[in-house]
Amino acid sequence: MARSSSPLRNLVLVLGDQLNRNAAVFDGFDVRRDAVWMAEVQQEATHVWCHKQRIALFFSAMRHFRDELRNQDIDVHYHALGPKASRDRGRDFAAVLRKDVRRLKPERLKIVHPGDYRVKQSLESECSKMRVPLDIVPDRHFYCQPDEFKAFSRGRKSLLLESFYRRMRKKHGVLMDGENPIGGKWNFDHDNRQTFGKHGPGSITGPHSFRPDDVTEQVFDVVEARFADHPGELDSFDLPVSHQQAMRMLRDFIDRSLPLFGKYEDAMWTDEAFLYHSRLSAALNIKLLDPRNCVEKAVEAYQNGDAPLNSVEGFVRQLLGWREFIRGVYWLHMPDYIDKNALGHRREVPSFFWDGDTDMECVRQSMAHVLKHGYAHHIHRLMILGNLALMVGVDPRKFHDWHMAMYADAVDWVSLPNALGMSQYGDGGIVGTKPYCSTGNYINRMSNFCGQCPYDYRKSEGESACPFTTLYWEFLDRHYERFKKNSRMSLQMKHVAKKRQSHEMKKIRSQAKALIKQWYDA
Ligand code: SF4
Repeated sequence: MARSSSPLRNLVLVLGDQLNRNAAVFDGFDVRRDAVWMAEVQQEATHVWCHKQRIALFFSAMRHFRDELRNQDIDVHYHALGPKASRDRGRDFAAVLRKDVRRLKPERLKIVHPGDYRVKQSLESECSKMRVPLDIVPDRHFYCQPDEFKAFSRGRKSLLLESFYRRMRKKHGVLMDGENPIGGKWNFDHDNRQTFGKHGPGSITGPHSFRPDDVTEQVFDVVEARFADHPGELDSFDLPVSHQQAMRMLRDFIDRSLPLFGKYEDAMWTDEAFLYHSRLSAALNIKLLDPRNCVEKAVEAYQNGDAPLNSVEGFVRQLLGWREFIRGVYWLHMPDYIDKNALGHRREVPSFFWDGDTDMECVRQSMAHVLKHGYAHHIHRLMILGNLALMVGVDPRKFHDWHMAMYADAVDWVSLPNALGMSQYGDGGIVGTKPYCSTGNYINRMSNFCGQCPYDYRKSEGESACPFTTLYWEFLDRHYERFKKNSRMSLQMKHVAKKRQSHEMKKIRSQAKALIKQWYDA
């Protein structure tokens, strides 16, 4: 039954990362008295410079969600961008909403707690200007609400993932045997650092992929027309854009990849973007997928003997632990968090972070995945691209902006603590107790990249010195006074002290200076 002509009660706003039919905002929804409002706006896609696949994912998934709601007789006021810039070009989210509120005259607006501080603030201020009540309901997609995280953080000197994770496992009874963790340990990281050895991973089918349907093809026309100069390519777009597709991808991951996911979680190999990783993050972050479904299916696979505990625990920790933890950190520390820059870094991201044009094989590989799929797995993100940006001295906020632009799964609450915090140490140790940096030695151990590279991962100076190895020592030298006090870094800092005494550091400093000049003065 469609909406009657009686006055509109609730206008439910659904943002591009809130595509969840089971969200609290639909509790008590009455198709005769309520309606949904959704909008594709140019400004939201250009607020940060955006990978074409990220824009396509959001718009296509929004249109599929709109159609699903309309099939349930729900009145959806949807603003689609066409290929040609129309009168709405340049108009922002608030302006489009204002116009509709004036026209539809709802009694109130309802929305799930937005995932972006800026969006929440701007909505609250718009509604107050329009004098229309706004109900912000909790985002039930998550296990832990911001208030619960705040209570957890109270009285703690530092926020440790491990304490939070154990608490969540106990509270939700996941992989528990009474009060104890199944398998007698909370963490199987030790089993999850294996490499592919000399022979490589062999043939891996990779995650389930989806051919674009007509709706997605129409979105491609919009993206190519309006966002032609944005980075990335659309030809390889194969992401799930509906709840049904996301569930298929989850089933496929559980059946085919989960058994080996843990063991090879940190390994990398030439031209292999996905290996045994799930690639579910984009579907999760726009709420096509419920993390509880993912956790339940993984635990079921363990109980049925289809996947080992190290894999299942590693996957559960990413969802029930890390993902919930960083969301808690985001809401606890915003709005100040975005301006944190503990190391005082000021540089732009180097140009090869946009086009992948470099002779460093590891960076070339990571960037090829990013440009082709709007994706790279966590070690490419953290230990190659993030590692390099940190050691070069990129401004952590600029690195966050780059991360938001280039990854299809990036949304503000995910990107800020991961990119600015964990990867760039911008928050000075809130999410990580030490900076994630390494020489080329780590990359050589976890991949086959160094064997195909003109640089020598063992050398920190000289013509064939590996930029990672040079910059690693120079970075620690530059921040010597800060890091020598960090007990987790005492061994590395002893090496730095030794290099300083032997004058080796002088050569490293000048090698690093020349590298940076070459990258930034080109
Ligand atoms: Fe990367 Fe250095 Fe290895 Fe080359 S030698 S692939 S730059 S770590």
